[in-house]
Amino acid sequence: MDITNNITHFKPCGGNYDKPLEIIYYLLGTCNYNCDYCAWRDLKYKENSFEIQKQILDNLFKIRKKSNLFLFGGEPTLCTYFKELIEYIFKNKPKSMTVELQTHGELNPIIIEQIKKYNINVSVSIHYNNIKSITKVLKNILLLNNYNILHRIDFMFEEKNIKKQKIFFKMLEDKNLLPVITPTFGYMNLPDFKKQYSDAKLLYDSFKDCIEKCKDIEDYEISIDNGDISIKDASELYQMNLNFNGWKCNAGSKMVIIDNKGNFNQCTSSYFYDTVKQNIFTNYDRFIKMITSTSCICKYTKCNWDLWVDRVKQ
Ligand code: SF4
Ligand code: SF4
Repeated sequence: MDITNNITHFKPCGGNYDKPLEIIYYLLGTCNYNCDYCAWRDLKYKENSFEIQKQILDNLFKIRKKSNLFLFGGEPTLCTYFKELIEYIFKNKPKSMTVELQTHGELNPIIIEQIKKYNINVSVSIHYNNIKSITKVLKNILLLNNYNILHRIDFMFEEKNIKKQKIFFKMLEDKNLLPVITPTFGYMNLPDFKKQYSDAKLLYDSFKDCIEKCKDIEDYEISIDNGDISIKDASELYQMNLNFNGWKCNAGSKMVIIDNKGNFNQCTSSYFYDTVKQNIFTNYDRFIKMITSTSCICKYTKCNWDLWVDRVKQ
């Protein structure tokens, strides 16, 4: 039975979703990889000046609630003043703010030492078909793990070179890294928002043997209008055409997206869909209102990426 239209409540479960405010900071907006599911692959954004970034950060440091500054790219470590930026963050951030870094893992030793100096939690994303040196990525992952700062490995399973990806997965498994691997699929197809989640179903099936070994599998609790509650995993979810348009979503209290020009929005979909950008320099009151609200009303027909927040049908 297709229950899609009868769902009344959708929330993540089974993972670590009890997070403080997540500030997703697109500090660079460009990358030296070319993943075909990524909005930053064509290098169309330009690095902004250190002065502007410091001003954006100063505004973020004024936030008076527990938060996690999630340094995102494209590939954030390509920022030419990355080292200075990290120094600035740790010199000025409030104690209530933690810092996390997302990277593809092809890091140089200077960057790794800088990350280690501040004990920054690192999430490494594996985009196998773009990796230039498997040896280097594996070595860096092991080093970060050794330093106790490897937070997560987001293994993005891709359609090309499935066998080779599985060999790399096995290499990570053999190094006892299964507990930190989060399997990820093609659903976050940012350039094409109209694509449905079901596009990822075949990929899920192809990598099922790897996925089932991972502990951190995304699960979702779905309530329907007759009171029944069911737990769906990602493979089931991808076959449903979920649409939260008009629903109450707690992205309002959980997250905000901001880029290196100071443009901000509530969630990934709103950041990419909304043509009129709000800016932290000209709409600071709006920014504060957004991060202190408890919920927002979803305006979008497809939720990209941010499935880890709670939402209720109105
Ligand atoms: S490594 Fe990440 S940021 Fe870079 S192109 Fe791939 S998905 Fe995008
Ligand atoms: S698109 Fe944004 S507002 Fe809508 S459900 Fe997803 S996270 Fe919430």
